[in-house]
Amino acid sequence: RFITLEGGEGAGKSTQLRALAAALRARGLEVVETREPGGSPGAEAIRDLVLTGSADRWSPRAEALLFAAARTDHVERTIRPALQRGAWVVSDRFLDSSRAYQGMGELTDEDILTLHRIGSGGFMPDRTFVLTLPDAEAESRAHIRDGGDSDRIGGRDSAFHHRVTQMFSRFAAMEGDRVRAIDASGDAQAVTARLLEGLDDLLP
Ligand code: C5P
Repeated sequence: RFITLEGGEGAGKSTQLRALAAALRARGLEVVETREPGGSPGAEAIRDLVLTGSADRWSPRAEALLFAAARTDHVERTIRPALQRGAWVVSDRFLDSSRAYQGMGELTDEDILTLHRIGSGGFMPDRTFVLTLPDAEAESRAHIRDGGDSDRIGGRDSAFHHRVTQMFSRFAAMEGDRVRAIDASGDAQAVTARLLEGLDDLLP
């Protein structure tokens, strides 16, 4: 099975990814932990291109194509081979991040989905969890992690992050079977328990 974790900065995706993978392993499953952008040598090289340098290093369209190219490599080289041998794959971000981040400007959601059809045949996760936090809490968590100044996270302002969060909520509302919103506030173990509960129908 292919599971993705999505959400804005500071929602606790990487912590929950590790905890969820450990819980699945405890049930006897082989689990591959991966991330986007990245997750294969080629895609990690693209990650370096996209996430270093100034935020406007790439035009929005070029950036969307780079993310899509990274995803193609990640799916072909890491995700599909793991699924084929029967492993579970859990990814910190995937397509829905592109829909939320790159699909908000010059490109539409339909454009991002078209790129994904071309790049990866429209390959979709079996389940996607959107970790949701009130904006203020997400910002203070990301602030603590990055040690940045108070109103900017990852070089973008809080209005930007609010729009990203809204996009993720929209996916959960529109695609409820695949995409589930999970309350990421409070105790980390309780959040992991909510994630596992959200896999009830997929677990052997
Ligand atoms: O939250 P995480 O550390 O996984 O994200 C790395 C950075 O890449 C974040 O700043 C996020 O905004 C950005 N990103 C993006 N578009 C994607 C995936 C990640 O802009 N499709």
